[in-house]
Amino acid sequence: MEDVIGYVHSVETGGIVDGPGLRYVVFTTGCPLRCLYCHNPDTMKMKSGTETSAYALLKDIATYRDYFKAGGGGLTISGGEPMAQKEFLKVLMWGARQMGVHVTVDTSGYMHKNLDDETLKLADLYLLDIKSFLPQTYKKVTGVEIEPTLQFAKRLEALGIDVWIRFVLVPDLTDDLENIEGVAKFCSELSNVKRVDVLPFHKMGEHKWQEMGKKYELSETRQPELEETEAARDIFRKYGLKTY
Ligand code: SF4
Repeated sequence: MEDVIGYVHSVETGGIVDGPGLRYVVFTTGCPLRCLYCHNPDTMKMKSGTETSAYALLKDIATYRDYFKAGGGGLTISGGEPMAQKEFLKVLMWGARQMGVHVTVDTSGYMHKNLDDETLKLADLYLLDIKSFLPQTYKKVTGVEIEPTLQFAKRLEALGIDVWIRFVLVPDLTDDLENIEGVAKFCSELSNVKRVDVLPFHKMGEHKWQEMGKKYELSETRQPELEETEAARDIFRKYGLKTY
């Protein structure tokens, strides 16, 4: 496969929350969603960030192979939306796979039709963000329709690829019981969902919105209490899902 130039926001070499073990995380730029709580709004713009050779990144990733082997980690490609740069994503996945490095892709699934099945199968695991279940709530949170995300989850099930679901709990936005139950029931009906992470909303990205001269719509929204997050997790557990 030939080298491709991609646009990268940043690289993190000690990630522990973006997949199993110690992760080398590449944050690509470009995202079609406009999540109200996005903590990396500076990754949304297409073709922004540093122009980077996929081969150069792979060369760097190769130096961490022993760490990955010892700690069960690997490469995670996140964003932004990695599928917004499908050729770059493909070369990174392919190259890591060639080296025997575990590959995780963190995505909303919105652009999954950009990738054929053979490309999707280059990843060992997908971290799929299902940001809500009620269509109107999903649209309010992200600015786009939910259907492609749900289709993608089912497509991964058909391909037999593991998925970890991520759901952000935002008071008065995503915490409606029907909304949470909807995500939980949907996940429980898929055979490839290995775990669900319920992430409490936080405002760590608020300053970035301000620096970019953009309005942060959730400045008055509070962070959920620990008990509220646990109660949401219990809903997923009730559906038999391994939840954190
Ligand atoms: S999908 Fe991720 S990067 Fe894109 S807007 Fe939403 S939170 Fe931000």
